[in-house]
Amino acid sequence: MIKLTKRQDEILQIVKENGPITGKEIAEMLSLSRAALRPDLAILTKSGNLDARPRVGYLYNHNYNLKQEAKHFIHQKVADFKAHPIVVEKSASVYDAIVQLFLEDVGTLYAVDSEGHLAGVISRKDLLRAAIGNQNLNELPVSVIMTRMPNIITIHPEETLLEAAKKMINFHVDSLPVVKEVEQQENTYLLLGRITKTTITRAYVELIEAKSY
Ligand code: ADP
Repeated sequence: MIKLTKRQDEILQIVKENGPITGKEIAEMLSLSRAALRPDLAILTKSGNLDARPRVGYLYNHNYNLKQEAKHFIHQKVADFKAHPIVVEKSASVYDAIVQLFLEDVGTLYAVDSEGHLAGVISRKDLLRAAIGNQNLNELPVSVIMTRMPNIITIHPEETLLEAAKKMINFHVDSLPVVKEVEQQENTYLLLGRITKTTITRAYVELIEAKSY
C-alpha cells in the first residue's frame, strides 16, 4: 500500500473536484511551479491514482481510488477494532440476560462458564424465542437457549476485518466473539472482545474520514 504525502493528497483532491485539469492549473492552485509539481504528478499517475490524457489533462481514477480505500480498510486487524464483550454467566436467567441486553445496548451477549471461558452466544432472537415460549424467564438459565460450543463461529485478533465480514455473511450472524485458545484444551477459548456488523461499519467510516492512505 502506498502512503501518499500531504501534497499528493492535496493534488488528488484538486483533481477529484476539478478534473480534467492541466498540470499548469494544479500548480497555480497550489502556488507551486510546474517543475516542483512534476515528481508528485508522475508518482500519482504511475500508481494509478490519476490518469493523464494528452491535451486534456489529469483525471481522477475513481475505480482505483475506491479499491485502494477498500483494500486499506479490509486488511485492518480485528484486534484494532474489536469492542468489549458483553458477558453473562451461563447460569444467569433469561430474564437477567434481557435486562443486560437493554442496559448495555447490544444485540448479542456471550455466556461464560465459571472459569471465564466462552460457553455460548445469546442473540436477540434466542431471547425472543424464549420469551414467547411461555416459560418462567426468571427460572430459565441462558445455557438452555444459547448457541453452544463447539457451534460458535469465532475470530482471532490477528485475522482481518475482511475475514470477520465474510464469516458474518456466510454464517448469517451479527457478531463474532474474538478469542484466544487456551493451550492444550480443545474448544476452550478466552474471550477478548467482539466484532459486530456495527463495529465493522464504524471502522469503515473512521478509516475513510481519517484518509490515512
Ligand atoms: P439476531 O438474533 O438478532 O438475528 P444473529 O443473526 O447474530 O442475531 O443470531 C442468529 C442465531 O445465530 C442465534 O440463534 C444465535 O445464537 C446464533 N449466533 C449468533 N452469533 C453466533 C456466532 N458467532 N456463532 C454461532 N452462532 C451464533
